[in-house]
Amino acid sequence: MAEHYSRIIGTEEDKVNCPFYFKIGACRHGDGCSRTHLRPHFSQTLMIPHLYIPPAPGPDGQPVDDTEHFEDFYEEILEEFQKFGDLEQLNIVENLGDHMFGNVYVKFEQEDAAEACLKAMTGRYYAGRLVAPEFSPVTDFREARCRQYDEGVCDRGGYCNFMHMKHVPRHLRRMFRPKRRDRDRDRKKSRSRSRGRDRKSERPSRDDVARSGSAERKAKIAEWNRAKEEKD
Ligand SMILES: [Zn+2]
Ligand SMILES: [Zn+2]
Repeated sequence: MAEHYSRIIGTEEDKVNCPFYFKIGACRHGDGCSRTHLRPHFSQTLMIPHLYIPPAPGPDGQPVDDTEHFEDFYEEILEEFQKFGDLEQLNIVENLGDHMFGNVYVKFEQEDAAEACLKAMTGRYYAGRLVAPEFSPVTDFREARCRQYDEGVCDRGGYCNFMHMKHVPRHLRRMFRPKRRDRDRDRKKSRSRSRGRDRKSERPSRDDVARSGSAERKAKIAEWNRAKEEKD
């Protein structure tokens, strides 16, 4: 019996547990769902609903290109999450349904790190909105993501109920492992040194740009913390 149960849990055959909540950690029926949403008490994965908000649409009502906006956001939250431990995954969906819009999924290598992160972030404000992380049943993102979308053929568009992941460029994915990041930085330094000074004086170096970006990020994170202190 137990074996049968573990085989059907979260599938269409399972008449008790909601397959959407089980696989995606979010279901469009919310608490009104006719099937059970088994909320885990521990997990390596946290889901933070609606944390990413894309820029407002342009004057013509069309969505604007949010590449830069998204990359800044990604880098900022990545650094924040890494304070609690090493990450396995950091995914943000671009689905438009109310139950998925802007959802952020972060999977830590250790459950303890996820728990510490949940405790620290609960009740904080980000960009004026309350942050409400929850333990998520999602640990295998291959089950959660929309295969058709990945192949460019999902005809359900933004209202699909499987995850449409936002694209994360390689330089950001590379930041996952802190040790590797340090090595890259050293390599970059030695490369720019060998390039000589002439080219540097013509335009701001990549380092200058990166530095101003990180100052901005630090200010934002300080804002998170201030908001929390004020609340406490
Ligand atoms: Zn459900
Ligand atoms: Zn889809």
